[in-house]
Amino acid sequence: MLDTFGRTIDYLRISITEACNFQCVYCTPDGLHTPATSPLTVDEIERVVRAGVALGITKIRLTGGEPLVRNDIVEIVRAVATVEGVQDLALTTNGFFLAKYAPAMADAGLKRINISLDTLRRDRFENITGIDAFDRVWQGILAAERAGLAPLKINAVAMRGINADEIHDFARLTLDHDWHVRFIELMPVGESDSAREFFDQHFIGAHELRDQLPDLQIDKVYGNGPAKTYRLPNARATIGFITPATEHFCNACNRIRVTARGALCACLFGDRGMDMRGVLCEEVSASALQELLARAINSKPESHPLGKDFKINGKAMSEFGG
Ligand code: SAM
Repeated sequence: MLDTFGRTIDYLRISITEACNFQCVYCTPDGLHTPATSPLTVDEIERVVRAGVALGITKIRLTGGEPLVRNDIVEIVRAVATVEGVQDLALTTNGFFLAKYAPAMADAGLKRINISLDTLRRDRFENITGIDAFDRVWQGILAAERAGLAPLKINAVAMRGINADEIHDFARLTLDHDWHVRFIELMPVGESDSAREFFDQHFIGAHELRDQLPDLQIDKVYGNGPAKTYRLPNARATIGFITPATEHFCNACNRIRVTARGALCACLFGDRGMDMRGVLCEEVSASALQELLARAINSKPESHPLGKDFKINGKAMSEFGG
């Protein structure tokens, strides 16, 4: 479906839970986020996907919170993968439960995976995520690769004074592995003064990172994502920069989001979304759900603000799923 600015909207991101077993410093800068008690059920997720597909959605990403804390994750993957018209099914995870679930999710129809990994140093991992689990996540990445989930992407939120000195180490991963690395600019999340201070202190723009890698060559256009991709000479995989702060990619935005609370969000930086729960009950016709999705698509703003107004209107990224 085309939105009012002529963009094709074919990508739906669904946050299937707000719960997470990590507490990453940049995701919950206001402290522990209390998750909603009842995330969407398998049936509700499937119904949203069917309505989306009827409007031209072909790509789905499951996110969270941490999607793999749901013990029905394989069932969710299977339910979404079997909806006719879903051409691409991906998932974003912190990797903690990946060794356990990667083979079953691949069998159930998951195609590809993004793994969030913000440091390659065991000693830093716990400071960033609140949990000492570097080795476990690394095993998860290897399990995903063995399960054939490809392309496999490693997402690192770049933060001055926290991990920005690891850019070369991350870049080197693409020489030895078929793992695409994406550096994400830090986005301001949270409502407290300390959340704002965290952002001001640790934000680093993508060009500053890119300048540290003078050998990067522009890669051919790769995938549908917002990353600009490059490659080191003879590298097996690409390096990308996702720049919501310094250079927005709103003109190419092709997505809408469903939160774990059942709200539909047209823009990550917009309001907290339209409530969808009312039209998700079984008694309400599929067309009512489609109408609501169409309204959300038509309400997509042309772009989000940069500069001082650039902000996510929520307490934690786990509400929206990134
Ligand atoms: N638990 C999963 C994970 O760790 O990937 C999925 C949810 S997480 C909220 C989705 C993505 O949002 C992750 O790649 C994470 O790094 C990113 N993210 C969270 N807070 C962010 C922030 N303040 N700025 C930039 N990216 C952020």
